[in-house]
Amino acid sequence: YLVVDGLMKHYGDGEARVQVLDGITTKIMRGEVCVMLGPSGSGKSTFLNLIGGLEDADGGHVSVGGCELTALGARELGEYRRRELGFVFQFYNLVPDLTIRENIEVTAHLSDSPLPLEDLLRSLGLWEHRDKFPRQVSGGQQQRCAIGRALVKNPGLILCDEPTGALDYKTSKEVLELMERVNREYGCTVVMVTHNAAIAGMADRVLRLRDGRLVEDQVNEAPLSAAELDW
Ligand code: ATP
Ligand code: MG
Repeated sequence: YLVVDGLMKHYGDGEARVQVLDGITTKIMRGEVCVMLGPSGSGKSTFLNLIGGLEDADGGHVSVGGCELTALGARELGEYRRRELGFVFQFYNLVPDLTIRENIEVTAHLSDSPLPLEDLLRSLGLWEHRDKFPRQVSGGQQQRCAIGRALVKNPGLILCDEPTGALDYKTSKEVLELMERVNREYGCTVVMVTHNAAIAGMADRVLRLRDGRLVEDQVNEAPLSAAELDW
């Protein structure tokens, strides 16, 4: 479903040149939960941004569901992001002046077939909080809202950059259990970047990045449920 072939990316030039991704090649199957590990600065966020079409690669190819991203123009790339992609960030990136419900509704309008908003709010445990503003709810609730925003348009692919990075243990587990449910119930392919090696326990596939290279690409035959994870 997601095919990455020889992906290259650098920043800066001359002395300041950093080769952030140095030929990443992997295949992620439809419906997989893929967890990418790697130390700070190894290129994890850059990898997600390239798959998400938020930045341009210097070389190599990315295709999602048979669609070659590296060949798309700006308008088609925007269309791909609207149609196929949900993005979840570490710090939620909610719009502060919109309520929880409105933050999710905004992306629902981007889709021809959004998931029913009420069902989604209830299943995310946000129904009682729907008319509050982000600052009036907890970090876990804000992250659930961000997941709802990514999910409401029923995307094929959800990219998560440190989705639990700002959360405590218990709330992290809740968010991971939610991601697991999203994957099972809606069949979304999930690519999740994290520092936390324990989270790899729930992955169908584990990727490990070091200095812009993939040093591990392993299928996990017996993934744990998110509830079983411990760290
Ligand atoms: P972390 O775990 O800290 O989030 P990461 O694995 O996500 O790290 P990236 O954010 O992908 O790492 O960054 C990889 C390298 O690229 C780092 O050395 C970073 O300083 C550099 N880098 C990232 N974005 C830019 C940019 N816009 N301009 C210049 N250098 C950048
Ligand atoms: Mg990062």
